[in-house]
Amino acid sequence: MGYNLSKKNKISPIELPCKKTIYYSPEEAQDMINYIKENRSIKEIHAYKCMTCGFWHLTSSKK
Ligand SMILES: [Zn+2]
Repeated sequence: MGYNLSKKNKISPIELPCKKTIYYSPEEAQDMINYIKENRSIKEIHAYKCMTCGFWHLTSSKK
């Protein structure tokens, strides 16, 4: 298979503006939500797309 590898084939870690955990897709975030809900007593947690970094974060709204 002819991957067109150049010298810049390595994705350098982007310096992200967000300190929160990043999920690269809503599915990935949902997986984590399911996991959290099974293991912790967090009722309200959902994913949102971050306008700063363009990835997904989780947020839980405390009562
Ligand atoms: Zn972000």
